[in-house]
Amino acid sequence: VIEIRNLHKSFGALEVLKGVDIAAKKGDVVSLIGSSGSGKSTLLRCANLLEDSQKGEILFDGEPVRWRGEGQRRQPADRKQVIRIRTNLSMVFQQFNLWAHMTILQNVMEAPLIVLGHAPDEVEARARALLDKVGIGDKCDAYPAQLSGGQQQRAAIARALCMEPRALLFDEPTSALDPELEQEVVKVIRALADEGRTMIIVTHDMRMAADVSDHVVFLHQGRIEEQGPPAEILADPQTDRLRQFLSATV
Ligand code: ATP
Ligand code: MG
Repeated sequence: VIEIRNLHKSFGALEVLKGVDIAAKKGDVVSLIGSSGSGKSTLLRCANLLEDSQKGEILFDGEPVRWRGEGQRRQPADRKQVIRIRTNLSMVFQQFNLWAHMTILQNVMEAPLIVLGHAPDEVEARARALLDKVGIGDKCDAYPAQLSGGQQQRAAIARALCMEPRALLFDEPTSALDPELEQEVVKVIRALADEGRTMIIVTHDMRMAADVSDHVVFLHQGRIEEQGPPAEILADPQTDRLRQFLSATV
């Protein structure tokens, strides 16, 4: 679904991604781990074109992103393509970013109505079903401030799903939550993995990474230092850097 080849990204003089390759085929769950500042969020943001990158390719369903300009001036050339990719790679953030002045149901319905222009009845039915699915069907008419963090994050996941994306990108979906609430969200993510959703998940939660992913990628200072199936990479790391990282996280 999504493939990134040799991606380079700098913020001014700071080189954050130094030639990263990552891919998620249909049904793959890829976890992205690494220390703070290693470039994980930047990589996700580049993948769905929220950030520009200076070099390398991004392919969505085999179709390469078309660019205009080079290096620091490189930008996506085709606005329609950007919108198509962005709506198909729905992002769930650490902070849930729900609209405070809208009910949970309105939050979930907003983008499919406005961005995709789907019919209100159809969107509402889908939104209610998704809120049921993530276990907060009774919160449709509540406002975000009336929900716990775990409930808000599940609403944010329902909102991302309501776009009917080809893949979901999660940026530390559980790290703002207390441990008990965290488990509610992990459960939802595990259920999505079980139903064959394509996902890339940035996480500090090694248990979740071990539990849900097919492939784990360890990013260190803007490069992939090690990658592989979770059972190998997390249980038997080959590089000192990953060994150090894992011993510091548990
Ligand atoms: P964390 O685990 O703390 O979320 P991360 O791996 O997600 O870290 P990024 O947020 O991708 O790291 O940041 C990578 C580097 O890029 C950091 O050094 C950060 O300071 C820098 N950076 C990120 N966003 C910007 C920006 N908009 N402008 C300038 N520098 C940035
Ligand atoms: Mg981050």
